[in-house]
Amino acid sequence: MASAIGAAPLVMRIVASSIQIAARAGRIIRDVMAKGDLGIVEKGKDDLQTEADRSAQRCIVASLTKLFPNVTIIGEEGASDLKVPDDWIIPDVNTEFLERNSCPEALKQVKETDLVIWVDPLDGTGEYTQGFLERVTVLIGIAINDRAVGGVIHQPYFKADTGELGRTIWGVQGIGTGGFTPKRPPTDRFIVTTTRSHSNAVVQAALDALSPDDILKVGGAGYKVLQLLEGNAHAYVFASAGCKKWDTCAPEAVLEAQGGTLTDILGRHYRYGKDVPFPNACGVLGSASGISHKDILAKLPDSVKQAMNKTE
Ligand code: AMP
Ligand code: MG
Ligand code: MG
Repeated sequence: MASAIGAAPLVMRIVASSIQIAARAGRIIRDVMAKGDLGIVEKGKDDLQTEADRSAQRCIVASLTKLFPNVTIIGEEGASDLKVPDDWIIPDVNTEFLERNSCPEALKQVKETDLVIWVDPLDGTGEYTQGFLERVTVLIGIAINDRAVGGVIHQPYFKADTGELGRTIWGVQGIGTGGFTPKRPPTDRFIVTTTRSHSNAVVQAALDALSPDDILKVGGAGYKVLQLLEGNAHAYVFASAGCKKWDTCAPEAVLEAQGGTLTDILGRHYRYGKDVPFPNACGVLGSASGISHKDILAKLPDSVKQAMNKTE
């Protein structure tokens, strides 16, 4: 079996490793909280960093760099000290992922230099500091030639029926998703999920135009996409700059692997190559599998689209 794993195509090995690494990062996030000293630093307005963000990123980037030295890895917390405790370096792969899934033809020949890995070590830092722990996610997104094609979303505080903490969801273009039970949203009502803490007049105008029956205001890009994957909302609407490439790469890949769509507010996919600007300047529009992205786009007023039609 070891040789079969070693022979798996690069993209499959990165996803299989990222599943294990994200879970370890999740354990670091829980450990920092349990110790109680969050070490909060204010990076900008409404933009915090804690010891958990810093340590989780060091674990993820050190582990991925050791395994895939020629892949470009971009983490939210910038350059990290990669001298980490031995048990933060995760050498193992998720064998179940490799055994149950075969690599799509289109991804078989991908080389390390074609790839960018976008890391948000802790998405939802505000939620983490305020105790909305279920909304915290670890995001590892894989981009090939500018497109988000694979991703892992780990939820450190998800509580399984067994009482076990943490779950890891993955998605790969051409394979599908795993780690959870996909659900379609209800057909008799229209539910939109959006930011809890980064709203403004344009964000609100976009929501008003869609006349949703309910609005789920929850923090975290990863958690909002989870609401689409699990049928709790039909659309993720955020007509504002503020999200960055590491917020959307993994969620976009997982959502699209399940048949949903994630674009900017004008319906264009973001590019995830190594030289792109970090900000998602044109907002975020996500739609669940089975929901027409085009219909939602058509309902957004021109004023909102004009406000969001910025150069990247
Ligand atoms: P939210 O939907 O507000 O939870 O934001 C999703 C992700 O985008 C989180 O990682 C936020 O930190 C980031 N984000 C969104 N808007 C802003 C903003 N105005 N300033 C800083 N970060 C933001
Ligand atoms: Mg984030
Ligand atoms: Mg973050």
